[in-house]
Amino acid sequence: MRMQPERRHQGSHSTSSRPTPPPATAARGADLHVCLGCGSDLVQPLWWEETGDGRWSIELRCPECERRREGVFAQHLLDDFDERLTDGTDALLASHRRVARENLAHEVDRFVGALAAGAILPEDF
Ligand SMILES: [Zn+2]
Repeated sequence: MRMQPERRHQGSHSTSSRPTPPPATAARGADLHVCLGCGSDLVQPLWWEETGDGRWSIELRCPECERRREGVFAQHLLDDFDERLTDGTDALLASHRRVARENLAHEVDRFVGALAAGAILPEDF
């Protein structure tokens, strides 16, 4: 998931005709990957939407206690969250590859053992 804004807040735009954006969520809970309910670090985004001022409105869900929360967060917090999600995805893929490799090695060992024991015959195929 990439949460890059279509344009970043430049700080030099006139704000006279713009509606006032919602206030950013307070510093508490700034680590978006951490659940405020149970402390799990597996919080995931359910949906997100750019507010138009370089911040994001986002709903988060904890898969461990099902707690949800919504808030408006600055781009840098979303960037940090995005990095955490990417790291989590990478760790999950690495774990999947390791388990798949171990399973295949185990199957090969069993197959070799069965061949050696004469338990596999041509008519088995
Ligand atoms: Zn939780």
